[in-house]
Amino acid sequence: MTHHGRSVSILGVTGSVGQSTLAVIEELRGQGADIPVEAITAGQNIAALADACRRVKPRFAAVSDPSLLGAAREALAGLNVDVGAGPAALEEAGARPAAWVMSAIVGAAGLTPTMAAVRRGALVALANKECLVSAGPLFIDAAKAHGATLLPVDSEHNAIFQVLTHPDRVEKLTLTASGGPFRTASRETMARATPAEACAHPRWSMGRKISVDSATLMNKGLELIEASYLFGFSPEKIDVIVHPESTVHSFVHYVDGSVLAQLATPDMRIPIASTLAWPDRAAVSTARLDLASLGRLTFEAPDHARFPALALCRTALGTGAAATTALSAANEIAVQAFLESRIRFLDICRIVEDALAALEGTEAGLIAKTPSSFDDVAAVDQAARRVAQRIAGSLAAA
Ligand code: NAD
Ligand code: MG
Repeated sequence: MTHHGRSVSILGVTGSVGQSTLAVIEELRGQGADIPVEAITAGQNIAALADACRRVKPRFAAVSDPSLLGAAREALAGLNVDVGAGPAALEEAGARPAAWVMSAIVGAAGLTPTMAAVRRGALVALANKECLVSAGPLFIDAAKAHGATLLPVDSEHNAIFQVLTHPDRVEKLTLTASGGPFRTASRETMARATPAEACAHPRWSMGRKISVDSATLMNKGLELIEASYLFGFSPEKIDVIVHPESTVHSFVHYVDGSVLAQLATPDMRIPIASTLAWPDRAAVSTARLDLASLGRLTFEAPDHARFPALALCRTALGTGAAATTALSAANEIAVQAFLESRIRFLDICRIVEDALAALEGTEAGLIAKTPSSFDDVAAVDQAARRVAQRIAGSLAAA
């Protein structure tokens, strides 16, 4: 099977991963590949949605904000595309019959449209890690039940996926972390960090939420949870190492002492192309790895004192699936509050930790129970958002 003739949809086309996906599709089409685009979605940016429609000519385009339906119809008039708005339209975008669906909406908002693709057994290129962290076992079970293939796009998980030749013979995984913009910063510097500083990632250009997650190392913690659910390894079998060059995208250690890794320049078009062409490969014009000019690759242990997020995520994973739902939801609220300058940088992890502790106190039943339905997941998600919002409010007032 190759990517020729494979129809695609892109959930979150206006974002960083969405735009890289468009670039890959345009390049392959330029080489003569037939890649029909079924559906694309955006949050609110209608101009960017219209631009994407002109570039790849989808049949259906949706915006998440229902009040923008009229404006979207106007902006997309004459482009020969059906237009929708609101949650049902996003879900329709996932449900429409594309063979391959890029899940690149940020946050739990991506869960329902992604599940629509999972339920019809699609090839699901999964960039959105929050939906997996949030719905964990339910999401994985649904993929199995419906025959969907999950193709990890997150660069570390994509790397593991590429070298996971013998899943039953794995001793452990090592996820690499760039260390983010505050890798060598003092706690005092981090305490004063502005949203602009937190979003200035040294290696990757990404959306604001994941950029802040990279600065707190919550991103790596979410990825630890993501790897555990995706590949079925317990947390003790997953290590994290800081690797500032972001060249090795992760390691798989086998029982005979062999360690396999995937290396590439840090460019999301590489993992995206690997999932689009899977199980084939496609020629894309990304910068080639120049080992001599890199000279050396370095590795260091993460500093848990400055970056408590890693341990928080490990603990939540140990507690169970509801705890990871709550952690991801509380983190979304805390990151938003930080991006709006309502709280300080170091408050982010504090809010997540306190929200989990508060839920374990007042809603012990909710956190201890493994969610048995997506409605259960939504209930835990909403409870965690309420608690996190309250804590953020009290920190902002202090
Ligand atoms: P982004 O903020 O650049 O883009 C997010 C997309 O989701 C946009 O199209 C936006 O319009 C849409 N969106 C936002 N809120 C929405 C809502 N409530 N409903 C519907 N659509 C909404 O984010 P990104 O950096 O492209 O990241 C997307 C996802 O991929 C995230 O889950 C992130 O963790 C993951 N990821 C990104 C990268 C990267 O390099 N950017 C790498 C690995 C994983
Ligand atoms: Mg990653």
